Amino acid sequence: MALINCPDCNKQISDKIANCIQCGCPIPTAKSKSTPTTEKEQTIQQTSKKLKMRMLIAVLLMIGGCAGSMGSVSLMGNSNGELNMGIAYFSTICSIAFVTGAVLWIVVKFKVWWHHK
Ligand SMILES: [Zn+2]
Repeated sequence: MALINCPDCNKQISDKIANCIQCGCPIPTAKSKSTPTTEKEQTIQQTSKKLKMRMLIAVLLMIGGCAGSMGSVSLMGNSNGELNMGIAYFSTICSIAFVTGAVLWIVVKFKVWWHHK
């Protein structure tokens, strides 16, 4: 049995009782700990939803970046110098998008693994 301070009157009371013996105010004991657990579960659900969204963004970035850079490489041979510069610039952005997507995907995978551990 441990002694805690009443949140209302601040007197020392047992943590096993439901209400303060001095003022009758309800004591947060093991019985009322179900609420934080539910909140935690909700947080996990929200987190997994967020992770799924990030996963989707990561996959879209990878597909878009890969398709964009491959498309621009195939275009580069058929165009003049000035256009090639633009295509090269576009290709760089697509490569960055692909790498960002890949990194994000790895981070999300790691977070999912971390949560399940
Ligand atoms: Zn009290």
